[in-house]
Amino acid sequence: MMYKNFLPDEYVKDVYQLSAEALLAKGVKGIITDLDNTLVAWDRPDATPEIASWIKEMQDAGLKVTILSNNNELRVKSFCDPIGMPFIFAARKPLKKSFKLALTQMNLKKDEVVMIGDQVMTDVLGGNRFGLHTILVVPVAKSDGKMTKINRMIERRIMKKFKQKGLISWEE
Ligand SMILES: [Mg+2]
Repeated sequence: MMYKNFLPDEYVKDVYQLSAEALLAKGVKGIITDLDNTLVAWDRPDATPEIASWIKEMQDAGLKVTILSNNNELRVKSFCDPIGMPFIFAARKPLKKSFKLALTQMNLKKDEVVMIGDQVMTDVLGGNRFGLHTILVVPVAKSDGKMTKINRMIERRIMKKFKQKGLISWEE
């Protein structure tokens, strides 16, 4: 098993740890981000004022932001439309196809884009395999949607392995 592909390049508590200034300084021009439990709790339909203003801060700084979600059209569209965000739904992460589509829509290159997400099995694995800089966040909510629960079980085993190997260190 290629454990390396499950290892994020960065790990942060939440997206608020990421400033437009710091990203731009690293040459980042675009952000692809997961939605559920990355930006808001999986069962919250709309953006919080905090997340809306974080997205706006990124956009105002000139960063392109796209949501890449495995969730369905209704869920993703009702979150994104009110704040005018581009999105791709039913993305089937970790498959490469939707990552490629996101990049094409943003008109950016792989080394100009970061992938942010709360799941190792979809966001990190997909981003790494596609060749993006991956940033893992702590899930916003403790609970998960039905589809995510199995992935979390596998994720916990992978994380345990990383910790044993001293590849990651953080508090849960
Ligand atoms: Mg998620």
